[in-house]
Amino acid sequence: MKKYGAKARLTVTVDKGVLKSAKEAAERKRIPLSRLIETFLNFFAKPDVYCFKCGERFSSTETELCLKCGWMRCPKCKVCGCKLSEETAVAIFHMRKVYEDLLAGRIKS
Ligand SMILES: [Zn+2]
Ligand SMILES: [Zn+2]
Repeated sequence: MKKYGAKARLTVTVDKGVLKSAKEAAERKRIPLSRLIETFLNFFAKPDVYCFKCGERFSSTETELCLKCGWMRCPKCKVCGCKLSEETAVAIFHMRKVYEDLLAGRIKS
């Protein structure tokens, strides 16, 4: 779990319905809404991903892209999309889309 420093106040305006269902979901999971927002903002600024091959967790801001396939290269095992079968690459591509929808853009660009 990441450690955070001093707190700052954030005032945002969001859709009423979204806020209501988020509050309910947060209550069910017993997670303060402010912690959720903090986690997301941290993810947005510095998305961490896991290598699909070796499972190493690495920061997308600290890794390089393969020039051939355009995927992030794992800093530990150096794997990228080039060695994957088309079927596997498509599966991973679609899972990564969840991240990119959340981030409103590419994980790394
Ligand atoms: Zn790896
Ligand atoms: Zn590649």
